[in-house]
This record gives sequence, C-alpha cells and structure tokens, in this order.
Amino acid sequence: MALIVQKYGGTSVGSIERIRNVAERVAKFKALGHQVVAVVSAMSGETNRLIDLAKQIQKEPDPRELDVLLSTGEQVTIALLAMALKDLGLRAKSYTGGQVRILTDDAHTKARILAIDEENLRRDLDSGHVVVVAGFQGVDAAGNITTLGRGGSDTTGVALAAALKADECQIYTDVDGVYTTDPRIVPEARRLKTITFEEMLEMASLGSKVLQIRSVEFAGKYKVKLRVLSSFEDEGEGTLITFEEENMEQPVISGIAFNRDEAKLTIVGVPDRPGIAAHILGPIAEANIDVDMIVQNVGVDGTTDFSFTVHRNELKKAMDVLSMVKTAIGARDVLGDDKIAKVSIVGVGMRTHAGIASKMFKALADENINIQMISTSEIKISVVVDDKYMELAVRALHQAFGLDQPASA
Ligand code: ASP
Ligand code: MG
Repeated sequence: MALIVQKYGGTSVGSIERIRNVAERVAKFKALGHQVVAVVSAMSGETNRLIDLAKQIQKEPDPRELDVLLSTGEQVTIALLAMALKDLGLRAKSYTGGQVRILTDDAHTKARILAIDEENLRRDLDSGHVVVVAGFQGVDAAGNITTLGRGGSDTTGVALAAALKADECQIYTDVDGVYTTDPRIVPEARRLKTITFEEMLEMASLGSKVLQIRSVEFAGKYKVKLRVLSSFEDEGEGTLITFEEENMEQPVISGIAFNRDEAKLTIVGVPDRPGIAAHILGPIAEANIDVDMIVQNVGVDGTTDFSFTVHRNELKKAMDVLSMVKTAIGARDVLGDDKIAKVSIVGVGMRTHAGIASKMFKALADENINIQMISTSEIKISVVVDDKYMELAVRALHQAFGLDQPASA
C-alpha cells in the first residue's frame, strides 16, 4: 500500500465528464489498496475568467481581494470531485487550503508555503477517505486567503506530498510527460522516461511550461518523487523526475528549450572604464527590471557595446532608463530589439563531455543562423537568435544532438 498524491490540472477537470474520469482514476488507485490525496486546479479557463472580472472593476485589482476571488475556482472543483467520488461509492472529503491549514506568508497572489498541518488529512486517509484538496491556495498567519501564483496547484501537490511523506506525487496534465522539446515544433520530439531535477528546473525556467518551477524546486529540496502523466490516457508511465545517479549513463543533451519572452537592448559606444557595467545596470535594477543575458566586449577604439536582455514587456521601460544612462555616461546610441528568441540546450551530461558548445554552434551555422548572444551554465547553453529562425534552430539542434532517435539501450 502506498500513499499517493495526485494533482489534476485545469484541463483534467475542465468539465463534469472529465471530473468523473478523474474520480474513476482515483477509484482505481483506491481499489489497488493505495491511499490517495487528490489536489485539483480550477476548471480550465476559470482563473483567467475571474482575473478578467476583477480587471473590469480595478485595473490593478486589490491583491487581497483578488486572492479571495481566485481561490473560488479551486473550491468549485474540490466539491465536484468529492461528489463524483461519492457517486462511485467511495468515501471522500474536500478541503480548501485554509481548512487544511496550508500556512503561507502574506505575499498575496504569489505567496509561499511555510507549513502544512497534515493531521486532519492523515486521519481521513487512515479511515479510508480520499482527501481532495484545493490547489493554489493557502492562508496567512492572520487567516487571509492567499494564492501561490499561476500554476500554483503543482506546488500544492508537491508540498502535500512532502508533508505527508507520500510515496509519489503524480502530476496529471494534458501532455503525457516531459518531451525533448515541444512536439508542435519538432514532430520527432520524444517523451523522456526520466529527467533530473536540475534539468527540469532549467527546462522550466527556459520556457517549457509543463510544471510550475517552484514545484520542481520544492520537490528537489524535499526529495519528493515526482512524475508527470497524462490524465487522458490509461496507460503510460509518464516522465519521472529523478536525482542524478552516479553510474547512470546520461544522454549528453536531454532537451531543447526556447522562448520568445525576451527583448535585447544594446548601448553602443560606451567608454571602456571601470564601473561602466554597474552604471548601466544599476538604474535598470532600480527600475525593478530583471536582466537575463549580458554580453560585453571591448572594441579596439577603447569603447564597447554593451548588450543585455530583459522581459519583452519591459523593453520600453528599459529603453527609457537607458536613454538617460546614455547621456550620463556619454555613450553613442541605444538600440532595442524585441524580434529575438532564446534557444537553449540542456543536459547534465554536458558536465562530462567536451565540444558541446561547438557542436551547437556548428549546427546553427549549417542552417545559416546567426548567433547574437551566448550564455552558459554547467548544464545549459543558451543562444539568442533572430525570432524568425527560432523554430529552425530548435529543429536543427534536436537533430544534431540525436534527440530525434530513441535513446539507444
Ligand atoms: N488555477 C490556477 C491557475 O490557473 C492554479 C493552477 O492551475 O495551478 O494558475
Ligand atoms: Mg497548471
């Protein structure tokens, strides 16, 4: 007998019929003798609908009241799922985040979980109930309803699995696992049987949206066995997110991630002297703009071009800041470009293999794709390319690193 936490996303509970399907899946696990905690999201589209309602009243909705509003989405699905389970003859009980007492900090709309009181849940499980918990929500110390940020039900699932020391946390979603890249761009993309936490964190932060990034961090920290599965298929083992094992033969590259969320700024003809980088990025930080990639190189004439990327939504704000900086430091010009894309290869095998970067650059060169910026970490290499060539770049890299072929035994 195992204790399993199953998290069902919005599309998995998107209609009454689907909620019944979820109930049947839960029932199957119960029939095998397992204890099951089901964590659910709001029905698909519901959270967006609620945000839209709020914005019709306040352009920037009051955060406390927004959390009261948004938490209702999940309150609907816990009740419906509990009913569907009872309709199948099971014992079931629903809980809001506050009823469990998922204690969070008071950062409305992006709260962090501090503690979970798992006693009631444990008692219900021991008396044969399926426990159904609302994802994405908690309460702060003063009893205010909080929410955990978009996609936060994943984090609720993992946090409950950690608190209950569950044998596995299963994330049921509308894809059947984590893929080498987005199959809509590369039809040859394959489901990975396993991926390490580190790789998954990189993939998530680079734009692969299978799991909320915080849930992956949480699972890694508390050693929760995490698996991504499809709620629309009965078979399939999904993708298991694992720790790197010493003797495990790792593929060099596990996946290709990409996003179009960034824009590039370049400040041209910057005098090359100590403190210049701080001069440029200081005001950007003060304006609360996050910087991702940075490139600087000294030219022969003693000036330098300084480029960096920010979120696309913040390009205009960053341009305004830089035009002030430009005058202050005597640079020549400021350029902005939002027609860029970031493409990254990710793999823990990179640590022990040489020549990965050059292989990547050659694959792009063979397609005549110009690289505008490069950044690397221990298990990732990212490049910025022209937006137009993003899909081509992803396909070329997917092929160059042998991801089109099933992993050899
Ligand atoms: N319902 C919330 C959202 O749409 C939380 C979740 O689905 O995980 O972001
Ligand atoms: Mg989700």
